[in-house]
Amino acid sequence: MTARIRPDLDTFPSYVPGRSFPGAHKLASNETTAGPLPSVASAIATAAAGVNRYPDNTNTALRESLAERLRVGVERIAIGCGSVSLCQELVQIAAGPGDEVIFPWRSFEAYPVVTQVAGATPVPVPLTADHAHDLDAMAAAVTDRTRLVFVCNPNNPTGRTLSAAEITSFLDAVPSHVLVALDEAYFEYVRPGTDAGDTIPDGVVLAEGRPNVVVLRTFSKAYGLAGLRVGYAVAAPEIVVALSKVHTPFAVNSVAQSAAIASVAAADELLARTDQVAAERTRMRDALVTAGYEVPESGGNFVWLPLGGKSQAYGDASAEAGVVVRAYGTDGVRITIGDPHENDAFLAFATSTGLELLKS
Ligand SMILES: *Cc1c(COP(=O)(O)O)cnc(C)c1O
Repeated sequence: MTARIRPDLDTFPSYVPGRSFPGAHKLASNETTAGPLPSVASAIATAAAGVNRYPDNTNTALRESLAERLRVGVERIAIGCGSVSLCQELVQIAAGPGDEVIFPWRSFEAYPVVTQVAGATPVPVPLTADHAHDLDAMAAAVTDRTRLVFVCNPNNPTGRTLSAAEITSFLDAVPSHVLVALDEAYFEYVRPGTDAGDTIPDGVVLAEGRPNVVVLRTFSKAYGLAGLRVGYAVAAPEIVVALSKVHTPFAVNSVAQSAAIASVAAADELLARTDQVAAERTRMRDALVTAGYEVPESGGNFVWLPLGGKSQAYGDASAEAGVVVRAYGTDGVRITIGDPHENDAFLAFATSTGLELLKS
C-alpha cells in the first residue's frame, strides 16, 4: 500500500527547469556564461578540502561581508540556499492555510509553488497589457487574509522594470502589517535611462524605514554561482530571526558560503561583466524589433517575446535550430542573453525560420 501523503500535492504546479541537450546553445536559464574567476575558483577549492566539517549555520562571515558592502547592519541579512529558498521561508513565516499570498502573473514560477507548499492561497494578479506589474490591481487585491506580496523587479520572464517612484507609491498603498518581498534577482543588470528611470530602483534604499519590506537578491545570476545555490535577504532584524526559525539547518553549504564571500570581494570585477550583457540585450532587442517582433524593454539578462499560442511551437523550433530557449505556456518565450555568438545563433533563427513559423 502506498503511504498517505498530502492529497493536494496533485494540484501543485511542478517547477520546470530550463532544459538543454549536448551541443545546443543554452539560453534558457538566465545563467552567466563565464565560469568562476580564479579568486573564486580558489576559494571553492580551499573550502572543498574542509567539507568533512559542517558549515557555519549562521553564515556569519558571509553576512558580515554583505553587510559591509550594502552598508546595513549584519542583523539585517539572512542567507538562503538560493533566494528561491528565501521565497519559501518568507511564505512559511508569514502565511498558513487560509492566508493569501499575492504575486504578479506571469512572473517567477516559484511563487505559486512555495505558496501552495505552505498551504496558503495563491492570488496571482495579471500583468498589464504591456507586460509590467499592475501595481494598482495588486494593491487592490490586498484583503484581511493577505500576509505576503511578491514584487519581481525586473520581472522574470517579461523583463519590465518598475521605477523607484512606482515602487514607493505601491509600498505607501500596502498596509504596513503586510510583508512585501522585493525580489531583485536581476538588480545588477538594470541600467538607468531605461524603463527604470533615471535612478536605478534599489530595494535596500526603498525599504529604509519600512520594516515590512524584504529585499531578495542572489549570487546565481550576475555573480555566476547558480550551481552553488546562495541568495540573501535584507530585512528588519525580527524578520531575519523569524527566517532562521524555519530555515533547514545547514542548508547553505560551506563551499557555497566561501565562494559567495570571495565573490563579494571580487564584486567590481564580476559586475563589470554585466555591461556586456546590457549591451547585448540592447543589440538583441533592436534586432528583434527591426525584424517586426514586439519586445518589451528588459532590465534583466533576458528578453521576452509575447507569442501567445505560438510560444511552445516557437520554443521547439528554436531548440531544433540549436538554441534552447524557454517557452511559457501560451504566454511567450524568454531568451537569455548569452555570449555574442550565441545571441547571433538565436537571431539567425528568429529572423528566418522563427518569423516564418509566426506567419504560418
Ligand atoms: C533566478 C531567480 C531567483 C533565484 O534564484 P536562486 O538561484 O534560487 O537564488 C529568484 N527570483 C527570480 C525572479 C529569479 O529569476
